[in-house]
Amino acid sequence: MRYEVFDCKLCPGKGSATEVAGVGERMALWRVCRSCDFWLTCVGYRALGDQDPDGRRVLRVDGRHYMTWTDEQGRPPETGYTSRVDRPYRLLEDEIVRSARWLWLMGSIPDRFREQLPDNARFLTSR
Ligand SMILES: [Zn+2]
Repeated sequence: MRYEVFDCKLCPGKGSATEVAGVGERMALWRVCRSCDFWLTCVGYRALGDQDPDGRRVLRVDGRHYMTWTDEQGRPPETGYTSRVDRPYRLLEDEIVRSARWLWLMGSIPDRFREQLPDNARFLTSR
């Protein structure tokens, strides 16, 4: 089977058009590796106001990227490790205390994306 490996244009990583159906095609189009593809998706969330169209919210706390949702909204399509936390948080832009019912830790934001993905919230409880 023929496949193409290319240099990521954003970092020293490599991309391949064969990775995960659909995603690989997008990576080849943008010339980015899997990691940069993932974080570019997160930059996209920020452009949408840190929310999915259905209201699932992106939280960036201490350089970590999370997504939170309610039972009504349903879980995001590609969740990894998630848990029910009912954890209170506050967006940096206002004083409203909200509660994250479900939380998906999407990972630590790489240095090369920190500027595009600054913190937007903080948790009111530690764990
Ligand atoms: Zn990359």
